[in-house]
Amino acid sequence: MATTEKRDYYEVLGIQKNASVDEIKKAYRRLAMQYHPDKNPGDPTAEEKFKEAAEAYGVLSDEEKRAHYDRYGHQGLNGMGGFDPSQFADFGDILGDLFGFGDLFGTGRRRATRAARGADLRYDLTLSFEEAVFGKEVTLDIPRAATCPTCSGTGAKPGTQPQTCGGCGGRGQIRFTQGFFAVARTCPQCGGAGKVIKDPCATCEGAGRVREEKKISVKVPAGVDDGSRLRVAGEGEGGHNGGPPGDLYVFLSVREHPKFQRRDSDIHSEQTISFTQAALGAEVRTATIDGDEMLRVPAGTQPNQVFRLKGKGVPYLDGSGRGDHFVHAVVKIPTSMSDEQRALLEQFAQLAGEERSGEKGVFEKVKDFFTG
Ligand SMILES: [Zn+2]
Ligand SMILES: [Zn+2]
Repeated sequence: MATTEKRDYYEVLGIQKNASVDEIKKAYRRLAMQYHPDKNPGDPTAEEKFKEAAEAYGVLSDEEKRAHYDRYGHQGLNGMGGFDPSQFADFGDILGDLFGFGDLFGTGRRRATRAARGADLRYDLTLSFEEAVFGKEVTLDIPRAATCPTCSGTGAKPGTQPQTCGGCGGRGQIRFTQGFFAVARTCPQCGGAGKVIKDPCATCEGAGRVREEKKISVKVPAGVDDGSRLRVAGEGEGGHNGGPPGDLYVFLSVREHPKFQRRDSDIHSEQTISFTQAALGAEVRTATIDGDEMLRVPAGTQPNQVFRLKGKGVPYLDGSGRGDHFVHAVVKIPTSMSDEQRALLEQFAQLAGEERSGEKGVFEKVKDFFTG
């Protein structure tokens, strides 16, 4: 997969790898202030830097994504539902925090009360040629954030409910006037959620989500190809605040086979035969995906002639049958012969009426010509 060169997130924010949450936030605040589009109208470089900082912050401020990033880099985030562009909307809240404008992006939305679908996850799986052809049951270890099973994602101890926040009356924002302006600010008591949890769930400490390494069994159907994608519904990250889970996408790549080449549902291979087998006909053993088969090569077979083994190809994904196997004949001309073989061939050439000069072969003739 082609990815554009990305700067290291720590470098983007100008912080050390071991930076604290506070340092990350401070660094982002400084850059966001500096490059905010409102302060740099029509400056594409500033806008780019602003977005870059926002993305870096989005990852490094999320404990789980940061851990993934530290371990696997940008690639790891691609692999495991890292930076989700749909979460970009959440930056409205972060910036609201930073600038004191709760509704900077004009969404009027409150972050935590919104039920949101969990992020989709991507898993890259490499299969052998045969596994892709015949299918396989695989067990994947998927590290993911899941809805807390104890509180079903509410974050509140079972039997209790999150309470409406007294600080903002459940709106998530506090409005006040500053000079001539009416300003809305994220409620500091509930962090914009509009609700507070009095008795947090012991399992998730009120987060509503837990980390888990889940083993997921996936049936790879027979006939998948390089670049195929499997969707496992509901096995992505857990939803937020009771939202549905995301999906798991398994991206398949298929290793090459030393003998077989695949074109859609057909398999192609080469079979070397001797020139006498080609001329006289023969039965030769040839490899197929089902094992060796006897292939009847008729007399007079030409180089690159193709033979079809019907139904010996790759199963169609819909189970309606199989493609074909095409065997390409490679006719081998001997590079050395015994005297006896040569004599027989000379005789053959004579009988075929080919022009020759005495007992000398063509090569000798040419040599004679050059040496005079
Ligand atoms: Zn509040
Ligand atoms: Zn819980």
